[in-house]
Amino acid sequence: MRRRRRPASEPILVVGSVAFDDVRTPAGEVRSAIGGAAIYFAVAATILHRPVRLVGVAGRDFPEEVISMLERRGVETDGLARADGETFRWAGYYEGTMDEAVTVSTRLNVFADFRPALPAAWRSTPYVFLANIDPGLQANVLDQVTGAAPKRLAPRAPGRPRVVAMDTMNFWIASRRDDLVSVMRRVDLVVMNDGEARQLTGEANLVRAARAILDLGPRAVALKKGSHGALVAARLPGDRRVRLAAIPAYPVEKVVDPTGAGDSFGAGLMASLAAEGAGVDDWRALRRAAARGAVVASFDVEGFSIERLRRATPAAVDRRLATLREIAAF
Ligand code: AMP
Repeated sequence: MRRRRRPASEPILVVGSVAFDDVRTPAGEVRSAIGGAAIYFAVAATILHRPVRLVGVAGRDFPEEVISMLERRGVETDGLARADGETFRWAGYYEGTMDEAVTVSTRLNVFADFRPALPAAWRSTPYVFLANIDPGLQANVLDQVTGAAPKRLAPRAPGRPRVVAMDTMNFWIASRRDDLVSVMRRVDLVVMNDGEARQLTGEANLVRAARAILDLGPRAVALKKGSHGALVAARLPGDRRVRLAAIPAYPVEKVVDPTGAGDSFGAGLMASLAAEGAGVDDWRALRRAAARGAVVASFDVEGFSIERLRRATPAAVDRRLATLREIAAF
């Protein structure tokens, strides 16, 4: 029997790259594969929750079928612009443990001149994810969200989104550090790779790196450690201490392509918070969300591009979540 879908609820807005990727891993190689942080996020989040509102830009070369596929999954695409020119392109490879991508080339193409204009109805979206893209664009989107903090975080401002989260990568840390840090000051939750957190903060120790990020203003941070899981750190209301949680990675035995794992982790996490109507102040909900993020990411790495991710079901996520609980219990 088909399970009835939950009624459409708390939407999630995502801005990020929409891309063609050339990727090589020990398992094989793909060229011009569908990718981009916003695409991975949208496909991954809609396994568990809908709608997802997508903000980004695709070139004329981006396949219409992919956009139709996204719409069928519950992705709203009114904020996905089409521009004359070529779609963003990333080329990279993974070796050994595949925990880190090596970038060969990044071509911004239509993203170079993109200025997003949020549809009016999207300005009050309660869950906002600033996926990996130029921090100037992340800030621009945040400026258009009603009640989003102008400079510093104001967690209880009226009309403010429930959760604003962000991701980024080494490319932007190296080239746009100041802009990136000013976006970080305005969000509730930062999701990033362990290596990139070290690069950003100059702290080799991951707990110290997490604390340094919290000191910028976010109330929570989730540091992804590839196949080693994630470290979640948060400062809860009325408590100066930093709370820590270790989230294991789901044990995948055949990793094919880790591209998009970070975006899928962020998507599972945001989908879980949105489905529960929770904020980052709810420590149990945040830990559960990070575990769902880890599970959703485990599907992503089992195939190239979005191929495995798009076939994952809520029931399969629940089964892996139960396994993850067992692995972490002691
Ligand atoms: P992830 O593996 O989750 O970190 O994200 C992979 C996706 O990020 C790929 O599909 C790329 O198209 C995209 N990507 C790579 N470099 C950048 C960049 N500098 N800005 C935005 N997106 C990027």
